[in-house]
Amino acid sequence: MSRISEALEDVADAVIEQKDYLTELDAKIGDGDHGLNMARGMQAALDAVDKLPHDDEPAPVLQAIGQALLRNVGGAAGPLYGTGFVKAAAACDGSTRLDVASFAKLLSAAITGIEQRGHAQKGDKTMLDTLIPLLDSFQKAEAEGQTLSEALHHAEKAAMAGVDYTRTIAARKGRASLLGDQSIGTEDPGAASACIMYRALYRFLREY
Ligand code: ADP
Ligand code: MG
Repeated sequence: MSRISEALEDVADAVIEQKDYLTELDAKIGDGDHGLNMARGMQAALDAVDKLPHDDEPAPVLQAIGQALLRNVGGAAGPLYGTGFVKAAAACDGSTRLDVASFAKLLSAAITGIEQRGHAQKGDKTMLDTLIPLLDSFQKAEAEGQTLSEALHHAEKAAMAGVDYTRTIAARKGRASLLGDQSIGTEDPGAASACIMYRALYRFLREY
């Protein structure tokens, strides 16, 4: 198994472990299926990557994850995450490395795809409220010439702050937007799942 597949396994395990937590959040402000959706999607992603002949290159792995999410997960988040992974795969090129610039480039492509598909913006109380601060943090790290380990650390803080911020705002996209101000006080399930995925990746890379 390649290091990339090992990283995916850790990310998938983290999502599957937090299935009930994500579902509880979604039960408060949505329809209570986000944990189930994401656990099913990550299991499908693991199965798809398992079948790949070359799982040591980022592009085919990201593409397989994205397609698995698009094919196997209903609801809003699965297709949005799926689009994000497919766009990140397409952004891979000869310069893609495990470095700050590649994190920024792939995240930027993923976010553009998610924005185009879902028409949400920062502050709408969605997964983007974790993903955009993550990107901002990596872009700042790139501009400042931070090391990868510094950048990963700062990005974790940014992602967690993004999740906390979603607790303070009303949803303007997705099912939670039906609740309006009643969605204030609960963190957004998609923002939470994005943070769980990033933190699992960070944990993996720290031990790498
Ligand atoms: P559904 O809302 O269809 O039941 P999920 O429960 O799996 O799907 O996912 C809900 C999450 O999807 C929300 O918490 C939010 O983060 C995210 N989401 C919903 N709509 C959008 C959108 N238009 N853009 C970005 N993220 C969105
Ligand atoms: Mg839901």
